[in-house]
Amino acid sequence: MKWTQRRFNPDTLRVEQVPLSRREILRGVALRGLLVLGIGASSVWLVDQLFQSPADRARDREIAFLEGQLGDIREEMTLMEAAMEDISERDDAVYRTILGVPPVPEHLRHPGIGGVDRHAEVRGHVHSEEVSALRARVAGLQRSLVAQSKSLDEVTDMALEFEKRLESIPAIQPVRNEDLGRMASGWGYRIHPIYKVRKFHYGMDFSAPQGTEVFATGDGVVVKVKRLYNGYGRHIVIRHGFGYETLYAHMSKSLVRRGDKVQRGQVIGHVGSTGTSTSSHLHYEVHKDGVKVNPAHYYFNDLSPLEYEAMLEASEVENQSLD
Ligand SMILES: [Zn+2]
Repeated sequence: MKWTQRRFNPDTLRVEQVPLSRREILRGVALRGLLVLGIGASSVWLVDQLFQSPADRARDREIAFLEGQLGDIREEMTLMEAAMEDISERDDAVYRTILGVPPVPEHLRHPGIGGVDRHAEVRGHVHSEEVSALRARVAGLQRSLVAQSKSLDEVTDMALEFEKRLESIPAIQPVRNEDLGRMASGWGYRIHPIYKVRKFHYGMDFSAPQGTEVFATGDGVVVKVKRLYNGYGRHIVIRHGFGYETLYAHMSKSLVRRGDKVQRGQVIGHVGSTGTSTSSHLHYEVHKDGVKVNPAHYYFNDLSPLEYEAMLEASEVENQSLD
């Protein structure tokens, strides 16, 4: 069989049957094929639109609703992550800094998940990637919450300990010192009153009449009450804990015994001039972790900034000490 087409021939003025070329045949077939496909697709779409079941429509509405909810949850996650970050920063920068403990290490705040694919069950769906990303963020936030909660427990414990520490460390002057006139000699090189040589004076001398009350400068336990004929003379040592000890020397009388618990401000004895001393005064020392430190740094509880400055100035004069 041959493909032919009826065509008008202008030379003969007649309609003739003309055979079609191979190219014309192919084009004809392709055009008709496209037309059929186009009509077919449109019909399917039209039928789907016209005859969609109520169940289908409800399902589409449900999917749209869930997509909207997913978007809302994503936004809320962003806010929660920011809040969490803020809490972590405050924890490190404020609480931990005040209490003098190092920040929580990064690997504890943001621990890894491990090698397991925890989102395998959500793979293979249209929204797999979104759901998987969201679940990863929720898991991250959970881990941060656990780490932060542990950190705050630690901070609470430390704050309680800190309170005890504040009561224990020496923080007042050992004699009543309203006019600061009793501060006679401070920390540093001083001329020794007896040997007349320049020696380092490891404490602070408060000149006061014999019998003046001497106070424990922080809570603690009396670990030494001793009477020497030279050196410190009659002296008391109090252990405050946290590495602190204080020493009160040249006293005329002690009112506590070894093992006694004392509180800050409690009278432990009287000023005198026992041991190596030229006049009635109290020699006071603060020891931190076994090392003598400048007592001037430990009067923060009972001096105003101005008084503190005056005391510091007086204590720095390189005069003659009293012991
Ligand atoms: Zn002294």
